Amino acid sequence: MSDFKGKLFVFSAPSGSGKTTIVRHLLKQEKFNLEFSISATSRDPRDFEKNGEDYYFIDLSDFKNKIKSDAFLEWEEVYRDNFYGTLKSEIARIWGLKKHVIFDIDVVGGLRIKKKFPNETLSVFVKPPSVDELKIRLKKRKTESEEKINMRIAKASVELATAPQFDKIIKNYDLDVALKEAEDLMSTYLGLDK
Ligand code: 5GP
Repeated sequence: MSDFKGKLFVFSAPSGSGKTTIVRHLLKQEKFNLEFSISATSRDPRDFEKNGEDYYFIDLSDFKNKIKSDAFLEWEEVYRDNFYGTLKSEIARIWGLKKHVIFDIDVVGGLRIKKKFPNETLSVFVKPPSVDELKIRLKKRKTESEEKINMRIAKASVELATAPQFDKIIKNYDLDVALKEAEDLMSTYLGLDK
């Protein structure tokens, strides 16, 4: 790994909570010097997603080989047969750029990263107003089938219960407020002026 040890910013939440929107917003602010941790996944790309930008899309057997060769910092079968993981090489790549890493990952993965890098990580849980609201947002997004939406919703209650284990909780009830709160957290952690 590179000598530069940047910070790690983990944003975790149930699917549909808005964490991706928050992460994308933060990535646009140059003052934070952030680079997105591109995860590997065995799920199929959505129409608009690009390999090597949104994810490294790899097939299931390749994913399992990488688990065997200890290539992952953390990995998780987030939904059945849909594996997701952070490659160790990804952190090395970003620290090599002398940038801080920002993650958009599930709660289990997020907490694992915090455990592995307790002093460098700020872990943030993005809380949706309710499970019902999550369902509405996922339906509106139209990226998943009804069955997959139900799978994500079923998992959401379990994920919500992990919120107290995170360093900070951002309530995403009003997006503008949540974005501002996220920016303030980052500034405080990095010692920048707000
Ligand atoms: P999606 O299929 O909607 O892109 O992502 C599904 C879930 O997997 C989301 O909660 C997303 O944050 C999570 N996820 C994405 N990348 C990773 C990763 O590298 N590790 C873990 N543990 N979860 C991830």
